[in-house]
Amino acid sequence: MVGGGPAGLTAAIALAGAGLSTALVAGQPRRIDNRTTCLLAGSVAALDALGVWALCGAQAAPLRTMRIVDDTDRLWRAPEVRFEAAEIGLEAFGWNIENRHLVDALQRRAGEISDLLRIDRDARALEIADGEVRLSLADGGNLTTRLVVAADGRRSMCRAAAGIETDGRGYPQTALTFNLAHTRPHRDISTEFHTAHGPFTLVPLPGLRASLVCVVAPDEAAWIEALSADALDAEIERRSHSILGKVRVEPGHGAFPLGIETARAFAAQRIALIGEAGHVIPPIGAQGLNLGLRDAATIAELAVAARRDGGDVGSAEVIDEYNRRRRADVKSRTAAVDLLNRTLLNDFLPVQGVRGLGLYVLDRIGPLRRVMMREGVAPRLSEPRLMRGEML
Ligand SMILES: Cc1cc2nc3c(=O)[nH]c(=O)nc-3n(C[C@H](O)[C@H](O)[C@H](O)COP(=O)(O)OP(=O)(O)OC[C@H]3O[C@@H](n4cnc5c(N)ncnc54)[C@H](O)[C@@H]3O)c2cc1C
Repeated sequence: MVGGGPAGLTAAIALAGAGLSTALVAGQPRRIDNRTTCLLAGSVAALDALGVWALCGAQAAPLRTMRIVDDTDRLWRAPEVRFEAAEIGLEAFGWNIENRHLVDALQRRAGEISDLLRIDRDARALEIADGEVRLSLADGGNLTTRLVVAADGRRSMCRAAAGIETDGRGYPQTALTFNLAHTRPHRDISTEFHTAHGPFTLVPLPGLRASLVCVVAPDEAAWIEALSADALDAEIERRSHSILGKVRVEPGHGAFPLGIETARAFAAQRIALIGEAGHVIPPIGAQGLNLGLRDAATIAELAVAARRDGGDVGSAEVIDEYNRRRRADVKSRTAAVDLLNRTLLNDFLPVQGVRGLGLYVLDRIGPLRRVMMREGVAPRLSEPRLMRGEML
């Protein structure tokens, strides 16, 4: 395993927890992460099966209702759409948790597993030869393994070593992330205001708190970042139409230039890419890390099965099957998020009309809405066993 973000830690726990001798090569994180993640039902089931949810579930807030509000001043404005988890028999669409609590719980759980060797250093280089991968570590030392699970993020060194290229494009958008205290209860509702520059999404946290992802043009992001604390509170309250009452923005924020990037293959030459090493998508519809956790669960399932059959965990069969299983899930979600984001950014009137019509149809046609809700929460295809709460 290379990389100790949430995807890497999850894969390490799944592999080592099933008895595979696993080393997690992970230096110190490069920056403080103030983001939150809305974990969809399958991700929660997997974290529960891995003994992680018991350590952090109390710090997560359920998301029972999702509202999409067209906040553009365009001629063709979409109607407000509301999705209720109860409509598809779920208690909640997902649970929103601060990444620091999630990563802390993953680290604590990883620390409990004796088959998991922690190496608190970065990997510096990979060399693939003779049915093995040789990993050189920063500050010297090396490791030899049959399978590298690469969770080393969007600028993955492992991906480059495997010779895997990516396709992608940048968007003229920056996502600012904040956490807020507010005076009016959120009632477990997440609200996504669609503006002409991107979504402004408020997601519940426990108590009178919420997380915010505010997607704007880069120059507007710089303007917002430069505001004084009082002016920022007022600006965020204005943009949220005071639905949460008075708002106080907590110290610290994140700024992420947005883009889309997808690896041309998700595995090659004994290296399997998981999380953002394999795919980066904009924060719309809470898909990014949920996809990453499905990657982690899938590669763990395949490697554990190969080992139980007495086979090679990094064989061509494992690599091909991982590619096959992840392709449809990653590509379909990437395409859907890309399309939604681009229709938001597009000023062309017919495009706005189609988007408005699409949301209108979703609002009015119950069965279609329910299919979409179910698919958004749990994909029919390629759902690994851990996502159903089954142990490996
Ligand atoms: C604003 C925003 C909001 C989001 N909200 C959601 C959401 O609600 N739901 C959702 O599902 N997703 C969400 N996402 C996506 C989600 O945050 C990412 O998918 C997730 O953080 C990626 O995790 P990761 O483990 O793949 O990568 P990272 O968290 O980037 O971890 C990679 C790790 O690898 C380490 N590393 C790098 N190089 C090396 C090396 N050579 N050796 C060893 N270690 C190395 C790094 O230090 C880092 O710790 C959001 C993204 C953004 C930008």
